[in-house]
Amino acid sequence: MPNPGLVLIFNCGSSTLKFAVLNPFSGEEHLSGQADALGSSGAVLKWRHDGEDHVRQLSPSDDFESVMGGLVDKLDGPWSDLKTRLVAIGHRVVHGGEQFADSVLIDQEVLVAIRSCCELAPLHNPAALQGIQVALIAFPQLPQIAVFDTAFHQGMPDYAYLYALPYRLYREHHIRRYGMHGSSHRYIAERAAELQGKPITETNVISAHLGNGASVAAIKGGQSVDTSMGLTPLEGLVMGSRCGDLDPGLLLHLGEALDYSLAELEQLLNRESGLFGLSELSNDCRELEEAMENGHKGARLALEVFCYRLAKYIAAYSIPLRRVSALAFTGGIGENSAWVRHRTIHWLSALGYQINRERNEATRFGAEGLISKAGTVDIFVIPTREDWVIARDAARLASGER
Ligand code: AMP
Repeated sequence: MPNPGLVLIFNCGSSTLKFAVLNPFSGEEHLSGQADALGSSGAVLKWRHDGEDHVRQLSPSDDFESVMGGLVDKLDGPWSDLKTRLVAIGHRVVHGGEQFADSVLIDQEVLVAIRSCCELAPLHNPAALQGIQVALIAFPQLPQIAVFDTAFHQGMPDYAYLYALPYRLYREHHIRRYGMHGSSHRYIAERAAELQGKPITETNVISAHLGNGASVAAIKGGQSVDTSMGLTPLEGLVMGSRCGDLDPGLLLHLGEALDYSLAELEQLLNRESGLFGLSELSNDCRELEEAMENGHKGARLALEVFCYRLAKYIAAYSIPLRRVSALAFTGGIGENSAWVRHRTIHWLSALGYQINRERNEATRFGAEGLISKAGTVDIFVIPTREDWVIARDAARLASGER
C-alpha cells in the first residue's frame, strides 16, 4: 500500500491548544495532544503518540509559540518519520463570517479576512490567528488550510439566519445568525447517510452535538438549513455554563434594575449559567447524573431543562426538513449519556420518535449505532470526528482539488 500523506491539525482556543497528526483517508490518528490552562500555574501538556500517553507540566510563561516550538523540535527529532509524511496543516477557525462558505488555503488575503471576523468571535478568532502565524513560520514549506465552524451553515436561507432587528444591522454590521460546530454537523450528516445506506442528497438529518458547547442542526440533502447557535455560540440549547435562548428584554432588566455591567453580563451568560447555573453544582453532565441519582434536586432540574429545550429544537426542525430521516446524537453528552437521550426522545414520542432501551444503554463510550429500530425516524449515536473533517479538507485543498 502506498505511504499516504498525513495532515497536522491545530485547534487554538483562548487558553488551550489541541494538535493531532492524522491520515486524512482512513482517519487513523498517529499523534494527538492538548495543552490546557496556558498562561496559568496549572498549565499542562498531554499527548498520545503510537498509542502511549504522556503528560508534562508547563510553566505559566509557556504560550502557543513555545508549545508549538516544542512540537516542531519533536517533529525535527524523534518524530521525523511523521514530519516527512506531512502534506498539509489544517487550522480550525471558529468564525468565518459571510466570507467563507468552505475551507480555504491560507494566504495574506485570507488572513486579513479572518482578522476582520475577530469582532464576531473575540474569544476565538484571535487565538486561531496566533496559531496560524506561528505555524506559517514553523512550517513554511507546507500548505496551510483554514476550516471554519461557520462555513457549513452559510447556505442557510435568509428567513432562517436573520434576526427580526432593523435590516440595516445586517446590511452594515453583518449581524445575523451564523451557527457553529459546522465540521461536526457535516461529519454527522455524512456518516448518518452512510449508516442508512442512502446518498446524502436523499437524507434529512437532525444532528445534535451535545458537549460543553451544544447545538442542533437541520441538514437537508447534506446542506445545513437551520441551526441553533446564532451570531455567537450563546444562542440555542442549554450548555455547560452558557444559558442558550433568553428573552432579550431580560438583559435590559439586568442592566437597568440590577445594575449589571457589560462585563458582568458576559460572565453571567457565558460562565455562570446553563447546567452549572441551574444545578448550583456543576457544568459537567456526568457529575450531574450521579448527583441526580443521589437525590440532588438542582442536578435533576438542570438536566430536565436541558432535555426539554433540546426536544423543542428537534421538534421545530421537522418544519424545514418536512420528513426527518435520521436524528443523530454526538459530542461528550450525546455520545455517552443514555439518560439525556432517553429523556429527550420521551418528549418527542408524540412525533413518532421511539428509542430502544437496551440499545440506548449499550451505545456509549465511543460506540456507534442505531438506538431505535421502531418509530418513524432512525436514531443514531455517532461519535464525532471534527479532526478528520479538517484533515480531509486540508488534504483535498493541498492537492489542488476544489
Ligand atoms: P465535550 O465538550 O464534547 O468534551 O463534552 C463534555 C461533556 O460530556 C461534559 O458535560 C461531560 O460530563 C459529558 N460526558 C462525558 N462522558 C459522559 C458520561 N459517561 N455520561 C454523561 N456525560 C458525559
